[in-house]
Amino acid sequence: MSPPPKVAIIGAGPGGLTLARLLQQHSIPVTIYEAETSRQARNQGGTLDLHPRAGQLALKEAGLLPEFLKHARPEGEASKIMKYDGRVLWDDNVLPPWRPTAEGEQERPEIDRVVLRDILLDSLLPGTIQWGKKLLGVQEDEKIKGKYNLSFADGSMEMGVDLLVGADGAWSKVRPLVTPEKPFYAGITAIELWALDVDKTNPWLGKFVGQGSMFMFDEGRALMCQRQGSGAVRSYAAIKRPENWAEECGIDWEGPDARERLVNEYFADCGADLQRVILESKDVLIPRKCWMLPVGISWKTRPGVTLLGDAAHLMTPFAGVGVNVAMADALELAKALIARKDSVTAKLLSDSKNITIALEAYEKSMLKRAEENATKTMHGLKGHFSATGSEERAGKIQKGYDMMMAKKAEKEKGF
Ligand SMILES: Cc1cc2nc3c(=O)[nH]c(=O)nc-3n(C[C@H](O)[C@H](O)[C@H](O)COP(=O)(O)OP(=O)(O)OC[C@H]3O[C@@H](n4cnc5c(N)ncnc54)[C@H](O)[C@@H]3O)c2cc1C
Repeated sequence: MSPPPKVAIIGAGPGGLTLARLLQQHSIPVTIYEAETSRQARNQGGTLDLHPRAGQLALKEAGLLPEFLKHARPEGEASKIMKYDGRVLWDDNVLPPWRPTAEGEQERPEIDRVVLRDILLDSLLPGTIQWGKKLLGVQEDEKIKGKYNLSFADGSMEMGVDLLVGADGAWSKVRPLVTPEKPFYAGITAIELWALDVDKTNPWLGKFVGQGSMFMFDEGRALMCQRQGSGAVRSYAAIKRPENWAEECGIDWEGPDARERLVNEYFADCGADLQRVILESKDVLIPRKCWMLPVGISWKTRPGVTLLGDAAHLMTPFAGVGVNVAMADALELAKALIARKDSVTAKLLSDSKNITIALEAYEKSMLKRAEENATKTMHGLKGHFSATGSEERAGKIQKGYDMMMAKKAEKEKGF
């Protein structure tokens, strides 16, 4: 019997971890190479909502849905929509919960990214992850086509990889093997602001934002705030500006007056409460540029190498789908590989042709899903930064609410 294939996943983000878990469940050996030095090395950021047919489905197949539901926060789905002048257009926080539930679960519960990562990390066999392995480059083996040699920043190498999966995010070092496309600036810079432990430090802020998210969309600017499981409020004051705006606008982002200047120069006509969110989010301030890959990116399958998640199809966060798409990719890739492994007509998975057939099947539907979600994200970007963005979002929620109430009324009447 031929030896099992050498499978290397680059990146221990939600996509790479989900893939590793699914493959291990089917006894396919896998190693993850992660640039960070440990699971605690970096603050993993904010909260994410997992969709039933994407993130939640991948966790279900991975046998991790019960663990997810233990930590998920259905109340995090609450939305509050505001107009720039301070008018509240919609507020779930003042209504009883009304969103549709699937099998008794809220449809898109939130989970903190760090908790999701821990669930996935804890599900892997010991030794699966090699921490502190930052991939620098990949060379195809000179003698055996379709096998890859990996070089890491610590000087080490991994030779003869049969299947290389780039799950290494926006600035993937694996991507150049399949496409020359690179991320480009999407026209938006978001100033990330944190206020920690708001119930203790600033109860007003916690109450104002509510249990879930608070959004203000307007022409060329937006304010998006979200309650975290940790008790913090993370906000993005985002504006449509050229790529070098953050460096050239004259605001010293590390200076004591950065928030005041941001408010005075870009949010001066906004309601006092909206301004207060920016001014009182004092714990962290990080300017972040939004990057994306082209909508409809595609490539011809290259034997022995593929991409998933942001590495394959980086999108801006304006539809909130990135993690879900990454986990759906992982599920689909795992299924394609497992199907070839178990197929009685196919040869063993270690046959490189067999891997290529699996990759072709995976990439066909992955690229289609990527295009659909990237298109949705572009609509999201337009809506978030348009003069009627808040009204449109509030109207959409109102429509969903009215439909739910009509259904409820029919049920009560016994129809
Ligand atoms: C501000 C912001 C808010 C967002 N909000 C949401 C949201 O609400 N909902 C949602 O679904 N999505 C959201 N997203 C998108 C989401 O974060 C990403 O789509 C998702 O994390 C992609 O997962 P991934 O596994 O593909 O990559 P990543 O999460 O980027 O993970 C990549 C991993 O690879 C590692 N790595 C990188 N380079 C190397 C290297 N050279 N060698 C080894 N390892 C490497 C990294 O350290 C990291 O651990 C948001 C994104 C941003 C920027």
